Amino acid sequence: MTASKIPLAGVIGSPIAHSKSPQLHGHWLKTYGIKGHYIPMDIGAHDLQDAIRMLPRMGFVGVNITIPHKEAVLSIADLITDRAILIGAANTLIFRKDGKIHADNTDGYGFMENLKTGAPDWNPRSGPAAVLGAGGAARAVIASLLDAGVPQILLSNRTRVRAEKLKADFGSRLQVFDWVQAGNMFDHAALVVNTTSLGMIGKNEMRVPLDGLQKGAVVTDLVYAPLRTQLLETAEEMGCITVDGLGMLLHQAVPAFERWFGTRPAVDSATRAAVLR
Ligand code: NAP
Repeated sequence: MTASKIPLAGVIGSPIAHSKSPQLHGHWLKTYGIKGHYIPMDIGAHDLQDAIRMLPRMGFVGVNITIPHKEAVLSIADLITDRAILIGAANTLIFRKDGKIHADNTDGYGFMENLKTGAPDWNPRSGPAAVLGAGGAARAVIASLLDAGVPQILLSNRTRVRAEKLKADFGSRLQVFDWVQAGNMFDHAALVVNTTSLGMIGKNEMRVPLDGLQKGAVVTDLVYAPLRTQLLETAEEMGCITVDGLGMLLHQAVPAFERWFGTRPAVDSATRAAVLR
């Protein structure tokens, strides 16, 4: 970024109106007195490459990428981090001074930071993790859980073949369960993660039987609208430690904001309030 230019960043997706990222980055820009802007951009697949190539010339220092472009953007980037390659998707682009576009995936980082904050006593090595869902978010979650030393991942997805693909990609620490038997995974799970969109406002409720949840297990939901999903409510009633999904959204944004604007932002109660407003 040159001294004369006000740094710009933003989020690209389609649709994009629902995104909380402009509120989040706008809050941090204001809090740290940084002269910059963060802009939501609704860009379709056909225009994605041209738009991304043009942005650095317009003063953009980087962008977030969201649904449906997280995978496609890998073919546009010049450099891709190992974790983005492993996950097969990127959520953050950094426009470097040498003109190269650097792609990263910070979803797994955000997931782990949220868990560390919300369940500080959880030890990754303490037992198996049960993961519901096998979409893009599940890939980021599983990569970070394996990296943290979780001994075994029990995985179930409505479309079993997608879960089998994850097992093929991530290896023998994964065990796949049929969707109709997903509830059986909870009997021995120290951690339960919902990475499906079930329970989200406007989507179906989760129907997986929860009676196997273990008292003291950590249960987290990637869905953050509503903040307290039915899964988290039931888990809490059963004596589990629950962690909502909003913190993941906040934490995944930290490395990008730091790279773009040069300040590492804090995730605190004011940040949560700004996004929930
Ligand atoms: P995705 O790639 O489209 O995957 C969606 C997942 O939900 C798949 O496993 C899909 O199963 C499952 N699913 C959808 N409808 C279902 C139904 N009726 N019954 C059973 N399973 C169903 O999406 P994603 O990117 O992984 O995102 C998944 C969720 O995580 C979304 O709610 C997203 O908002 C949330 N998320 C949150 C954060 C955060 O920061 N908190 C970050 C990323 C994502 P099939 O394979 O059978 O279709």
